[in-house]
Amino acid sequence: MVIIMLGAPASGKGSVAEILSKEFNIPAISSGDIFRKNISEGTELGKKANEYMTKGSLVPDDITVNMIASRLTEDDVKTGLILDGFPRTVKQAEELDRILAEKNRKIDVVVNLETPEEELLERIVTRRVCTNSSCKEVYNVVMKPTKVEGVCDKCGSPVTQRDDDTLEKAKNRLEVYHTQTAPVAEYYKATGALYSTVLSKSVNRMKNEVANDVIEYLKNK
Ligand code: ADP
Ligand code: ZN
Repeated sequence: MVIIMLGAPASGKGSVAEILSKEFNIPAISSGDIFRKNISEGTELGKKANEYMTKGSLVPDDITVNMIASRLTEDDVKTGLILDGFPRTVKQAEELDRILAEKNRKIDVVVNLETPEEELLERIVTRRVCTNSSCKEVYNVVMKPTKVEGVCDKCGSPVTQRDDDTLEKAKNRLEVYHTQTAPVAEYYKATGALYSTVLSKSVNRMKNEVANDVIEYLKNK
């Protein structure tokens, strides 16, 4: 099973991926999380990625594709995997097809999350994340605050705002999404793998409803 999560920043990709990961017992691989881990560990990859991430720009394709290609050689992806945040450009999508073809695998579904723009910005600036890299619980100061301010309910570690979750950087990330990532949906539409679906509080359709529909879709496929 190969599942791709596509959508704008804070569209809910990570949350839906987590539910699908439990349902199918396959790892959810977040390119952003791998970059952030490398940044916190001060690796060469982290230093390179940080230059772009702090601006809210995309990390160059060659760096990103190499990182994902190497992650896909690990044992835990043998039965399946979910990619959250990759591919984000048409070039990356083409490279992924090549990597999967070499392994005789193909994409089962590309879940494309559609969320109204105003909800995205609001969710980004109110998002908070646990700093413990083995927890990474996501909070929201309005919708899902921590019980004790600044402290993770799950593990007790500090909870902070991501560097790129400020209004200015968020606006840039949304712009980058429209110009560079939205065409990826068109790319997958042509392959027949695209499953577009709304995730929005305005219609009361959040991560659980979306994940359940994806599970049903995959079962009936
Ligand atoms: P979000 O979905 O909220 O934007 P991510 O954690 O997926 O958060 O990504 C954070 C940042 O990491 C991006 O703004 C970008 O700089 C970098 N990044 C993540 N995935 C990719 C990718 N596939 N290609 C290029 N840059 C990426
Ligand atoms: Zn935590």
